This record gives sequence, structure tokens and C-alpha cells, in this order.
Amino acid sequence: MIRHRASVPVPPGVKSEPGPPMTLGDAPAARVRLIVWCKACQHQVEPDPTEMAARYGVETPVLDWRTRLTCSRYGSRQVDMVVSGTKRR
Ligand SMILES: [Zn+2]
Repeated sequence: MIRHRASVPVPPGVKSEPGPPMTLGDAPAARVRLIVWCKACQHQVEPDPTEMAARYGVETPVLDWRTRLTCSRYGSRQVDMVVSGTKRR
């Protein structure tokens, strides 16, 4: 007998983990955009994930990479980032 779960399909073997963290190497394959902006001066950039992976390493988790970012204008660390998916349907 098959029981249908209401909302979240959980693959076998995966329990409560939110999934592996996305790395810079994953980003180009996932076709996401990395949008970074500076909270101090509103400077916004969209770094090329492929270039970032080459510079920081493909194994670098995106969240780790984020902590290394500084504003290219003032060197401020008041930087925030989002990963924006382009693969929406
Ligand atoms: Zn700035």
C-alpha cells in the first residue's frame, strides 16, 4: 500500500537535513544567479559564478564565500547576498 505524503517528498536516505550546501562549483550547473549588494552604499553586483568558482574554489560553499565578500568600493563588510534561481517554471 502506497501512502502519499502531503507536501514534501523526501528522497530515501534523507531525513531532516536541508540538503548539501550549494558550492560555488554547483552554482553554474544549477543555473543560479548570485546577487551581491553592499548595505552601506547600495552597490550591487552579479558576480559570474564560474569566475567565482575559479577564484575561490569549486568546493567553497556559497555561504562561506559570502562571508569573505567585501564591498569593492569601500571595503565594507556590510555585504549581503542572495542566490536567485533562474530555473523557475
Ligand atoms: Zn559599499
